[in-house]
Amino acid sequence: MDATPSGGPQAARILVVDDSRVTRQLVAGLLEDAGHTVLRAASGEEAFGLCLEQPFDLVVSDLEMVGISGVQLCRILKADPDMAHTPFLLLTTRDDPRSRFWSRQAGADDHLCKSQMKEDLPTRVDALLALPRHAPDSGRRKSSASPLARLNQVLERSLFEAVVIGEARQLFGLTGSREDLARAVLDLATQLTQARAASITLPEGGALTRVARVPQIDSASELGLLSLLGMDAASVEHGQQLILREVEASGRRGMDTPGEALSVALAVSGEHLGELCLVPDAKGLTVDDQRTAALLAEAIAPALRQLRLVEETQRLATTDELTGIANRRNIQHWLEHEAERAERYGVPLSVALVDVDHFKSVNDTHGHGVGDVILREVAQALAGGIRKVDRVGRWGGEEFLLVLADTPIDGAALLADRLRRRVRLATTAADVPCHVTVSIGVAAHAPGWSAHALVDGADRALYQAKEAGRDQVVRQVEETGAAVIAAD
Ligand code: GH3
Ligand code: MG
Ligand code: MG
Repeated sequence: MDATPSGGPQAARILVVDDSRVTRQLVAGLLEDAGHTVLRAASGEEAFGLCLEQPFDLVVSDLEMVGISGVQLCRILKADPDMAHTPFLLLTTRDDPRSRFWSRQAGADDHLCKSQMKEDLPTRVDALLALPRHAPDSGRRKSSASPLARLNQVLERSLFEAVVIGEARQLFGLTGSREDLARAVLDLATQLTQARAASITLPEGGALTRVARVPQIDSASELGLLSLLGMDAASVEHGQQLILREVEASGRRGMDTPGEALSVALAVSGEHLGELCLVPDAKGLTVDDQRTAALLAEAIAPALRQLRLVEETQRLATTDELTGIANRRNIQHWLEHEAERAERYGVPLSVALVDVDHFKSVNDTHGHGVGDVILREVAQALAGGIRKVDRVGRWGGEEFLLVLADTPIDGAALLADRLRRRVRLATTAADVPCHVTVSIGVAAHAPGWSAHALVDGADRALYQAKEAGRDQVVRQVEETGAAVIAAD
């Protein structure tokens, strides 16, 4: 662009697009009067062809045109890396919300109502020309494709992008957790790109969860693929989606971008939500693959954030804040579910009520803070000493409830006694000034018993254990009383 001799606004090459000859001439005249060089196009198609042939400093286009409209032309140009940097001014017939909406949707840099043209066009044009612009890549206009082929390419890419975004958005309603969403996105990513394997890492407090999709691995050399995803060959079930939890507190390993793999951050407004990682096949990832990965990342990040919030809320609603195990509502819910199952199918079910002995005096002697540390130790000792199908929750204060599915009373009493010893050992090993013991009451479900009756039974047995000197397990024997089964 050359500066005008007067030193005023710069003279520019401007493309004016309007299917009305009168308006076209009017707009072109106004711009030529301002010292600009103007080319005219009578349709969106013609304008696109001209844009492919030569660079412009600005495109001024009518919004409504027969054939390719101003909105479509703007979108097409903005979607083409060679032309996206060219400012685009849309001329609207009316200055109404709908026209403003379409201008924004099209990605236009500015819009102007035709009734304001005489007064405002030159200044608006000057403002657009003064905007800093990113030069296109050096490969500009290298493409030898015909305008129609090029248009098809752009439209196809737009369609593809719209479909990718649509597909990703569809997953929102279908997935209830970030892990589910990650699995579905990996399915999509491996279908849409040439990636041989893909993974999504999700930060989880100080640790990471990694969901990965890997193909059938049949040769030793392909094991390198796993290391690209930061995975351990031994832990892989071939050809499957797998979930790895990395419990390293630092989480560093999983956050590193693996070697040749493409890594795209999953983020919303700077909030880090995870990483999408694609491992290329021998041909490598194409530019389109990279765009697809970026699109997917952008499309799913808001859903990830929402699911994280939901998971966080669920966790808070079901977890006891002090000990990190299930809270009363959660364990009660579980108990009712299991009691119903026991009643309906006649499967055995036992519960155990655990109460810390003389805990009041622990607090009184060492302070509430030490008491809290001990409660955490007890909770961890209980949680770490049961099977996966069993549950433990904080029932209240210094009481814990164990729900032991498919367990008859004998097994429950044995487990309870193991836990009693485990708690004593744990609090002895822990860095606390005193160790504690627990008393445990065990009860088993009998036909017709509600969840409430079951806990009542365990509570009666617990009372017996306290009466008999604490640090022991007592089981409720039907309705006939209680018998001490372990003490030392
Ligand atoms: P027993 O052997 O008969 O169970 O005696 P105990 O002292 O354990 O029983 P008691 O019910 O008299 O006292 C329970 C104590 O547990 C009193 C209460 O301050 C304490 N406690 C309840 N919840 C918490 C808590 O969250 N943190 C701490 N530090 N103490 C708690
Ligand atoms: Mg108590
Ligand atoms: Mg107590």
